[in-house]
Amino acid sequence: MTKPMPSNVIQHVPRSGIRRVFDEAAKYPDCIRLEVGEPSFSTPAHIKEAAVKALAENFTKYTANAGIPELRSAIVDKLRVRNGISVDSNDVVVTSGGVAACFTALAAMVNPGDEVLLADPSWPNYVQMTVLLGVKAVHYRLRLENNLIPTVEDIERCITPKTKVLIMNSPGNPTGAITPLPRLREILELAHRHNLWVISDEVYDEIWFDTPPHSLQPLDTQERVVSVFSFSKTYAMTGWRVGYLTGASEIVSHVLRAQEPTTSCVNSPAQRGAVAALLGDQQCVAEMRSAYASRAKLVTKILDDHGVPYARPTGAFYTMVDISGSRMSDIDFVSRMITERRVAVVPGSAFGPASGNVVRVSLASSESDLQNGVERLASAISDWSN
Ligand code: PLP
Repeated sequence: MTKPMPSNVIQHVPRSGIRRVFDEAAKYPDCIRLEVGEPSFSTPAHIKEAAVKALAENFTKYTANAGIPELRSAIVDKLRVRNGISVDSNDVVVTSGGVAACFTALAAMVNPGDEVLLADPSWPNYVQMTVLLGVKAVHYRLRLENNLIPTVEDIERCITPKTKVLIMNSPGNPTGAITPLPRLREILELAHRHNLWVISDEVYDEIWFDTPPHSLQPLDTQERVVSVFSFSKTYAMTGWRVGYLTGASEIVSHVLRAQEPTTSCVNSPAQRGAVAALLGDQQCVAEMRSAYASRAKLVTKILDDHGVPYARPTGAFYTMVDISGSRMSDIDFVSRMITERRVAVVPGSAFGPASGNVVRVSLASSESDLQNGVERLASAISDWSN
């Protein structure tokens, strides 16, 4: 029996390298899992209670596509107080996680054949999105010697007449890097000069270790920036699927047109949970932040003690470790780490073609796993260097 061929487009969506490691590590029950980028905490009780209450009250119907008014209004206050972003609630869209916010923002900006600038290394889902939308992903280099913070020169080198969008991510996954304010200014000037849209992915905005990150949008005088946020990381709500974006009315109206056919609106009880997250006590956020900060300290101390180079994490919950001392490719290194040392980390090349000299360690894992896992990682680099 002949059947129609599946979509050519979908066949070209690359599989996430993180998922590949996950599947391989799952074969070894004693493997220490440092590859997973998901908070190790449970969603705080008051947030869960708000969603349960919503269900009990039959708050279970479709909502406005852009989200319930009380959530959009709580987001407006949060953006003003914590991000320095002043917007009208009409310019806020609640989305199915940060992932849908990034996708609909990109869908609202590009035409097939356009080029989109992404960091190398960066979150692999961006490349998958570019394939779905028929646009070309062009990677700008992040360098270990710059602590994986982008430079204007490295971005500008990649710009062509077809470049339409620049994607920024600070605090970054997988870099753990926060782009400082003066650099954000320079990058925005570059976007102005070359007439680019900017997507500023700030889903890790509340996870920082020394000083809080700056948002790009308050610097934007030309309404080019769409900012993306999420409840996933800040409130340990990854499975709830609630994120949001904001930008100028003109582009936000296009985002809403992309959201209608893809997700329509976000799960209504989850939106009530998100309201409770924003209006409730923020102590839970401070506690999780300080746990990630102490894990970052632990990991960097072990790496320093062994003389292993890495990008010093200042936010999000990742650090990139330089494995070039092992003289192995990142793929071989990760594979041997799992089978011989029972530690799972993600190869740098999962995040971009030029990042094969590093691996990502997730600080979302427990302190004891990090202690044992990073010790084993550092020993392996030195054992395998000969
Ligand atoms: N952006 C970055 C950089 C991420 O690392 C993630 C998740 O890992 C997301 C966006 C999307 O997260 P969510 O869809 O859970 O909000």
